[in-house]
Amino acid sequence: MTCNSRKIDHLRQRIPSFACVPGCHDCCGPVTASSEEMSRLPVKTDAEHDAALAEFNCVHLGPQGCTVYDERPLICRLFGTTPRMPCPNGQRPQEWIDERVENGVHQLIASTRQVLV
Ligand code: SF4
Ligand code: SF4
Repeated sequence: MTCNSRKIDHLRQRIPSFACVPGCHDCCGPVTASSEEMSRLPVKTDAEHDAALAEFNCVHLGPQGCTVYDERPLICRLFGTTPRMPCPNGQRPQEWIDERVENGVHQLIASTRQVLV
């Protein structure tokens, strides 16, 4: 397991979870991730990427929501857990994310080459 892989798992475990509005995917769209996170996601064709981008969607968004939920990138997990990235529908965890964990996510993003998911 690489250093970044361990960091990702460490951060994932510390990002609080919360219930979304059922069926909502308002915050999904084109997102970026590190190559380590990308290696955990299914490979999509160029045509699938182009079709998703044309609608300003994420390529992993399906009719029932995120199709890669268990492996979704850190940025998707962070959304809604901090007052700096609030859910537009007012959903949130009981406790906001620990700022050290939030900063850890941003540091990992800043220190890795990010590619469009
Ligand atoms: S965080 Fe908010 S906007 Fe995003 S899917 Fe959940 S309820 Fe919808
Ligand atoms: S990976 Fe999943 S949660 Fe993240 S933007 Fe795509 S569909 Fe939404």
